[in-house]
Amino acid sequence: MERSPCGRARRHSPQQRPAVTAVHADPQIIWSAIALLGVLILAGHAGRGRRRRDPNRFYTWPEKQVLIQQAAGRCEHKPPLWRRCPAQGTQADHIVPWSRGGRTELWNGQLLCERHNQRKSNRVPSTLYRWRLQRRRTKY
Ligand SMILES: [Zn+2]
Repeated sequence: MERSPCGRARRHSPQQRPAVTAVHADPQIIWSAIALLGVLILAGHAGRGRRRRDPNRFYTWPEKQVLIQQAAGRCEHKPPLWRRCPAQGTQADHIVPWSRGGRTELWNGQLLCERHNQRKSNRVPSTLYRWRLQRRRTKY
């Protein structure tokens, strides 16, 4: 039984050979087809990337006020096993970064100090981080 795949492969190979030579007949067409496919894939990616982004890049002032109130004006960053950042929260940050498709909506916002906003950059926080943030918020 174990030998059968090998045997089958060998038996099939003479049948596959004509198809392979047919493919090799015009390599220019194949290369241009591959190039075209590549361009289409890249174009699709770029288009999707642009479409996914929220047209509103920044939180409005009233939205920022809500975030400040929700966080009591303090940075919401809290390292694991450490106390919450004591700095004043000055920047409304997208939890899921805007550049990665995060919405400019209150549920995707958190208040961070300048340092932690810079450090977070465009990283997507883990599900655990988000869950911990939600839990912390009930205790502010
Ligand atoms: Zn901070």
